[in-house]
Amino acid sequence: MSYLTHAGRAEAFVLDHERTSWHDETLWFVRQKRDKAVYAVPEFQELRELASQIKNHTLSRLDFYLEQFEAAAQANGVQVHWAADAAEHNDTVLRIIRQRGASRVVKSKSMLTEECHLNPHLIAHGIEVIDTDLGERIIQMRDEPPSHIVLPAIHLKKEDVGDTFHQHLGTEKGLTDPQQLAEAARQHLRAKFLAGEVALTGVNFAIAETGSVVVCTNEGNADLGVSLAPVHVASMGIEKLIPRLSDLGVFTRLLARSATGQPVTTYTAHYTKPVAGRELHIIIVDNGRTQQLGRPDFRASLKCIRCGACMNTCPVYRRSGGHSYDFTVPGPIGSILSPNIDLKKHSTLPFASTLCGSCTDVCPVKIDIHTQLYKWRQIVAEANHLPTAKKLGLKFMGRLLASPAAFKISGSLGRKALRLLPHGLTHHHAANAWAIARELPEPPKQSFREWYQQQASPTA
Ligand code: SF4
Repeated sequence: MSYLTHAGRAEAFVLDHERTSWHDETLWFVRQKRDKAVYAVPEFQELRELASQIKNHTLSRLDFYLEQFEAAAQANGVQVHWAADAAEHNDTVLRIIRQRGASRVVKSKSMLTEECHLNPHLIAHGIEVIDTDLGERIIQMRDEPPSHIVLPAIHLKKEDVGDTFHQHLGTEKGLTDPQQLAEAARQHLRAKFLAGEVALTGVNFAIAETGSVVVCTNEGNADLGVSLAPVHVASMGIEKLIPRLSDLGVFTRLLARSATGQPVTTYTAHYTKPVAGRELHIIIVDNGRTQQLGRPDFRASLKCIRCGACMNTCPVYRRSGGHSYDFTVPGPIGSILSPNIDLKKHSTLPFASTLCGSCTDVCPVKIDIHTQLYKWRQIVAEANHLPTAKKLGLKFMGRLLASPAAFKISGSLGRKALRLLPHGLTHHHAANAWAIARELPEPPKQSFREWYQQQASPTA
C-alpha cells in the first residue's frame, strides 16, 4: 500500500499563498506571546527542568503510579477501566453510555478520543456526540479533523467559520464578526449542554496519590458539561500521571504559558469523586504508549503535556498546516509519536522538519524533539521506507562526499554549469522546485580549497 507523503498532502495548503502566510503569521504571533509570558517568570527554566525530572521519574515507575492511581480513584468511588487500544476504549465508552440508556453525549476537547476515532464509533451506534469546545465544534460541523492540538480550527479564517455557521446554524450569510459568531455558537451549544446525558472529557493531568484527574480549558465547557450530565467519563493516556498534588503547580504554570502565553488556563477543574447519585468513570488507555515507553530513544516523547508550543514555533508546521501530517497530533511531536504507531505510513513525517531545534528549545518538559526526529530518519532509512529518489540521491551524495577527488571534480563542474547554463533551465520549476522563490548565489570562480591554497602560498 502506498501513502501520500507529507509534502504531497501539504501541496494544496501551500498553493494558497495568502492562507499559508496568514497561518504562519498567526502561529508566530502565538509563539511571541509565549515568549513574553515565559520571560516574565524568572524561574521558568528551573520549572522546565523540574517538570522534565518529574515526568522522567514517573515514566520510570509508571506501573507503580498507575496502580497507586487506580487504588486511590476506586477508594474515592470512581469506576476505573483499562483499555489496551482504541477499540477497547471506544467499546468501554459505548458500554457506559448504553448502561445508562443514554443517547446524547457532550464532549470537551480530548486528543485521546480523536486518536481513538471515538466520535465516528459512537455516531455509528446511534449516539449523538456534540463537541463543545468552540474550535472542535466548528471542525465537527465541517467534518474535518483538528489541525492543531490546542487551536483545532486554526487553519480556518473567520469567513470560513461564517460560511459554516450559515450552513449549519442558520446565521446571516456573510456574517464574519467573531463576537456574533461566538454568540451564535453559545446559543446553539447551550441547548446541547442542557440535553447532555453523558459528559466526556480528556485529562490533562492525573494525580497518583489522590486518584484525581485535572482538566484544563479556556471555555469552561468541560466544567459545564460535567456539572449538568449525570455521568462523567474521563479518558486518559497512561502518560498523564504525575505522582503528587504538589507537583501539579509546576505543570499548570508551564502549560498555559507555553500554549497561548496565558499565565494559567481560565478553568482548571479537579475531579476526585462522583457527586452523590452520579457516576465518574476514568478510562486508562495504552494504545501504543507502552511500546513507545520500551524504545529508549523515544520514551521521552511520552513526557509531552500537549501544549502545542513545538507546532507554533516549527517553520514547517506553520507553512504546511496541521492536516498535512495526517495524524491526530501534528507538528514536531506528532512526527515522533506517529512512526511508533505505523512506521511505513508515517515514514515521511520525521523529514518534515528543518532540524533547527526550535521545538526542543520551547518544549516545557524538555523533550529532545529534533534529536528524536533525526533518530527516526535513520530507522526509516534502515527499514527501507525512503522514497526511491531520496534513497538514490543519498547514496550518490554519500559516495561523492566520501571521495575528495570526486567532490573536487563535481564542484568544478557545478560552478561551470551554473555560469554557462541559461537561467530558465537552472530555475525551471519542474527540475528545481527549490528555486521557484529563490535565486542561487553567483557561483565563485574557484573553490574554497583553491582559494585557501592560494592564500597559503600566493606564488604557487
Ligand atoms: S512536545 Fe513539548 S512543546 Fe510539543 S506539545 Fe508536547 S510538551 Fe508541548
